[in-house]
Amino acid sequence: MVTPRPIMPGATLGMLGGGQLGRMFTVAARTMGYRVLVLDPDPHSPAGAMADEHVHAGYLDTAALDRLAGECVAVSTEFENVPAEALARLARNCIVRPAGDAVSPTQNRLREKAFFDRHGLPTVPWAAVSTPADLKSALAAVGTPSLLKHAAGGYDGKGQALVDSPDGAADAFAALGEAECILERRVTLALELSVIVCRAVDGTVACYAPGQNVHVDGILSTTTLPAAIDAGMTARARTVAAATAEALGYVGVLGVELFVTGDDEILVNELAPRPHNSGHYTLDAAATTQFEQQVRLLCGFAPGAVDLLSPVAMVNLLGDLWRNGDPDWSRVFATPGAYLHLYGKREPRPGRKMGHINVLAADASTALERARALHAELAAP
Ligand code: AMP
Repeated sequence: MVTPRPIMPGATLGMLGGGQLGRMFTVAARTMGYRVLVLDPDPHSPAGAMADEHVHAGYLDTAALDRLAGECVAVSTEFENVPAEALARLARNCIVRPAGDAVSPTQNRLREKAFFDRHGLPTVPWAAVSTPADLKSALAAVGTPSLLKHAAGGYDGKGQALVDSPDGAADAFAALGEAECILERRVTLALELSVIVCRAVDGTVACYAPGQNVHVDGILSTTTLPAAIDAGMTARARTVAAATAEALGYVGVLGVELFVTGDDEILVNELAPRPHNSGHYTLDAAATTQFEQQVRLLCGFAPGAVDLLSPVAMVNLLGDLWRNGDPDWSRVFATPGAYLHLYGKREPRPGRKMGHINVLAADASTALERARALHAELAAP
């Protein structure tokens, strides 16, 4: 097979989706000398503000998609729920990475779990639930405690209910509108990790070191590196993440979320077919940022070095922090090793990701302690 020539700086790239991930891609791409077109319906889109051009249109607007495909050599995406039709239409006229086929299993939790099973990737016990009758058999197979989750459309812990008993399961299913769901065994988590995988067109894979994640109310709160795991666990996490990208035939940056159980077993929780929130530390503490990797891989180049340059903790800034007006950012600038990233979103709604701070320090626990203390100071009235 002849490897196509890489796409050189000066070319125009497209980004489907205009949120913070699209924004950080756009900044990286423009820094590297590419032009960027962003397609997003929101006139105040965070990525649109950084792009050479912002096409205000819906993701299924065929004229807008055709314009993107006509003007861009290659297009990437920043969110998994991009309509498959949009990717397919773009792919008729330009390079699309990751491809629709690789994104598809990540758009639905049932498809994703079936994909893990098919490829021998370890995951939690699960069963599909579409009707009250399914719920009974799913409970018999999975047991309790478990979690009932919407199969499609859920993110950041939304569309999920805890199930502690068979009676509770019926209530949970009703609360989720009896929509297509997945019942998952609730496993005891020793810790949560994620691995950002970079896979190039020729199959070359580079995995960043695993980040150690803490979620609060289902939303990522902090990521710390190096994770408090030994070399064996680090290698296993990287191996399973790389195997996942290979099984998908994936080209681009893939976020692989992992559970580590009380028995030190590694389970794949879910996939993000794009740079991941837990990879934002790379903006200040890695040899190459995950967004530069997205540009490199989209353009057909090899991944850049994935070395960690310093212990680091990333803390997310959610809209709740704005409850008393704008936080006093001078506290961040007064903290050595702390770096502020704000996404330019106008409305700080509770739970909305508005930005993050990376704190670099001599070791991971000091970095995390400082990041948490800084966050608490910013939250203080
Ligand atoms: P998800 O949206 O599925 O990634 O879930 C968000 C968070 O909920 C995860 O990062 C875990 O902290 C927790 N969680 C989700 N599924 C499970 C499970 N099957 N067992 C234990 N904890 C879970």
